Amino acid sequence: MESVSESIKKMMKSRNFDPEYQKLIEHVYADKDVQSFLQVNQDKLSENSIMRGEAKLYEFVNEKTKLARNEATFAPGYRPTLVLNKNLIDVSYVPTNELLAQQAQTALKHRVRSISMPKLIKSASFDQFDMDNASRNQALMQANEFVASYRQHKDQFQPGLYLYGSFGVGKTYLLGAIANELAKYNVTTTMIHFPSFAVEMKNAIGDNNTGNKIESIKKSPILMLDDIGADAMSAWIRDDVLGVILEYRMQAELPTFFSSNFSMTDFESEHLAVNQRGDVEPLKAKRIMERIRFLAREVTMTGDNRRPKA
Ligand code: ADP
Ligand code: MG
Repeated sequence: MESVSESIKKMMKSRNFDPEYQKLIEHVYADKDVQSFLQVNQDKLSENSIMRGEAKLYEFVNEKTKLARNEATFAPGYRPTLVLNKNLIDVSYVPTNELLAQQAQTALKHRVRSISMPKLIKSASFDQFDMDNASRNQALMQANEFVASYRQHKDQFQPGLYLYGSFGVGKTYLLGAIANELAKYNVTTTMIHFPSFAVEMKNAIGDNNTGNKIESIKKSPILMLDDIGADAMSAWIRDDVLGVILEYRMQAELPTFFSSNFSMTDFESEHLAVNQRGDVEPLKAKRIMERIRFLAREVTMTGDNRRPKA
């Protein structure tokens, strides 16, 4: 059987080409990938189908060259490859490794939903977490343990963490790092800056949408409520928003994280028990706190205020 290149030579001789086209097409047939494609598929390709596929072969070589030269291509992020489509030559575009890596990165980001959270959480990671004192060390260890047991024992309830510590010790940062770590294992987290969310909910009372918002948040596989206790809560936020979310999560056994400047004990007595109007309601506070204690374990973080000085 004659080789592919010989039959192509013969084929070209038999046709009366315009010299410009002749040069172009010779360049196309000289391409190594074109040659091996024709070789591999020689049983399925007639002379006629090769001729009809010349425009496609040309497109392939052209796009491939542009890609190699870093020039703008027809489909950025994709590389051309020759395929047979019902015995006709065609070019298919497959994602480059760079594009696949970028897509994986984007998917990772989408697994962390955040509402009114600071930007710093986007880049937070366990690797970058500074362990400059014992309590931070301890917090990171517990965070690591959570991720490990959550992955290993999917069928068992894993309580989240209640990070307690003063302003700037890195509570929000650690929550972000946990969410980003979980994202690597396909776990979706919703992070909420609770005081901002409370204001948003209050403003939304009129538009009948608050129920839907609570609904979507309470079902998140992992939920993080950041900075609870930073602002005074109305009884409505405490009982009909926070209470409803926590009740659902307790019943469904869904891990929930908190961060606060208050310890659990102080959060209950100094914050939850006294509403915005100054009414003292220790029983309502106790109910909420029972749910929080079920959902999360308290971890104290101490250390310097790490916030950059303004
Ligand atoms: P908190 O929520 O406890 O008030 P933040 O998480 O906002 O504190 O942290 C304060 C600042 O310190 C932020 O700018 C954050 O990026 C930085 N930071 C906190 N913890 C770490 C850490 N372990 N490693 C690197 N940067 C950190
Ligand atoms: Mg914070």
